[in-house]
Amino acid sequence: MTVRVRFAPSPTGMFHVGGARSALQNWIYAKQQGGVFVLRIEDTDAARNKPEWTEGILSALDWIGISRGSYEGPYFQSANAGEHRAAAARLYDSGRAYYCDCTREDVQARTGSQYQGYDGYHRDRGLGPGPGHALRFRTPDEGTTVVVDLIRGEPTFENKLIEDFVIARGDGSPVFLLANVVDDMTMGITHVIRAEEHLPNTPKQQLLWEALGVKPPVWAHVPVVVNEKRQKLSKRRDKVALEAYRDEGYLAGAMRNYLMLLGWAPSGDREIVPWSVIEDEFRLDEVNLSSAFFDEKKLRAFNGEYIRALPVAEFIDACQPWLTGTGTIAPPPWQPEEFDADAFAAVAPLAQTRIAVLSEIVPNVDFLFLASPLIDEAAWTKTMKDGSAELLDDAVAAFEALESWDAESLKSTLEAVGAERGLKLGKTQAPVRVAVTGRTVGLPLFESLEVLGRERTLTRIRAARLRLV
Ligand code: GLU
Repeated sequence: MTVRVRFAPSPTGMFHVGGARSALQNWIYAKQQGGVFVLRIEDTDAARNKPEWTEGILSALDWIGISRGSYEGPYFQSANAGEHRAAAARLYDSGRAYYCDCTREDVQARTGSQYQGYDGYHRDRGLGPGPGHALRFRTPDEGTTVVVDLIRGEPTFENKLIEDFVIARGDGSPVFLLANVVDDMTMGITHVIRAEEHLPNTPKQQLLWEALGVKPPVWAHVPVVVNEKRQKLSKRRDKVALEAYRDEGYLAGAMRNYLMLLGWAPSGDREIVPWSVIEDEFRLDEVNLSSAFFDEKKLRAFNGEYIRALPVAEFIDACQPWLTGTGTIAPPPWQPEEFDADAFAAVAPLAQTRIAVLSEIVPNVDFLFLASPLIDEAAWTKTMKDGSAELLDDAVAAFEALESWDAESLKSTLEAVGAERGLKLGKTQAPVRVAVTGRTVGLPLFESLEVLGRERTLTRIRAARLRLV
């Protein structure tokens, strides 16, 4: 039997990192089993779906390594509406479902003030189809439904506690629960790997599989991803969109590796391993049953390590979207014609060891491309003290006299200027850094000055000096 798994997102918003994690787990499982990964877009909620969300899912999957053309699909749930209706009709014809026109209030009036679920009133009343008549599934009165779950063992549900749930609404349209089952069935899905929030639906869905006469799939319900307060990651509260991480400059390799480490770890106490190791070693049944903390700080540190591991040429390539601004990435503060690829290449190795996400490249190098630096006023006020003006005067004079404009000479020259005032190098270079780059932190100063060049360095220090008058 060929293993067939599916990832079945609903295109109702940005692509959630938890969804990306499920997709990767499905992807790896299929690969390990020599199986097939199917992508199905569950777009039946017409009011909430937008085509751009579908496009977002496809491109985010592509980015994370599940590339278009390498899986089956995408299929669209809305295209299968006929089969969903046919399945509902079959369940009715076989007596496994019946019509009901009760409102919630009707049930409440019969059963007491608290709504405890549907009371089965119409089970044997023989109501036929008609406007406003919902179709309900007749759940077994006795016995248990045991679902086989690769992560949880065999969660067991008492059938008598499962209400006769609705499978098609009063207007005849099948509900999601049924559509999802029918699609899995028609697509020959053997393993349903999805988030744990769907577990309450699973006994109902398994009953539907059985009633439709098909062997149910094996399930795997993966614990949810939570924030530092142990709350489920929510798009209102937390940064959950995979696209947001991509646009901030997380590397796909770091991101997908980190997502797989949520609730699982490769052997040997390692975290940074090649993707192939994750593909070999990942086991669904080893996924931790408690919810997994999505730690953005850790992800940042992780990403920094991936950035540092890149060959410089690849790092330079990877920075391009932030240096030029493409797609959803904002353009940098300089004009395209101000950009100097050689100057960038000269400082790139220095930046590579310092940034944690690629978007941070921009504030680190903008001083090289802008006609004058973007002055951070708070940094300016903090740094420019009594004596700074004279210090800058001396720095200009000493730099003007330099024969060779290189980092070594610049450093020893400025060191000497500071020493005359009894200042350590750190204190001496701070006003020069703010004058030249506009900031208190950045790339190593003397290498930066070397690349910026004599003319521009001196012009900037003089301009800063004038501001201090
Ligand atoms: N469309 C559902 C969701 O996005 C998927 C349900 C499932 O995986 O069975 O939550």
